[in-house]
Amino acid sequence: MAPHRSQPIPIHRSASHTPSMLVNAKKYLSDRPQLLDCPRCKQHGETELRFVNGFFTYVAFLVILVSGIFVLPLFFLWVPFCVDTFKDVEHHCSACKAWIGTYRRLGKST
Ligand SMILES: [Zn+2]
Repeated sequence: MAPHRSQPIPIHRSASHTPSMLVNAKKYLSDRPQLLDCPRCKQHGETELRFVNGFFTYVAFLVILVSGIFVLPLFFLWVPFCVDTFKDVEHHCSACKAWIGTYRRLGKST
């Protein structure tokens, strides 16, 4: 028995705003498929992922470019554009393909 457990994150943040599954879920988008209710077809299921180049991709590219002069061979320049770890993740409904949200590695997810 752990004497001290971390508190769950409160879901209700403002009284004037009706909390919805989607709005709350968007804050926790990740690079893994999410269980969500689709806002368009109301289908409950896992989202499909699409990896797209985002801000973090270009930051990683620049970091490798700069460090390439000193440390890494420039051979690694392609890595951020080909490895999903560096990309932003779009979530799409698996049933109707509607865009649900985008997980950004840098900045606010939408
Ligand atoms: Zn849908």
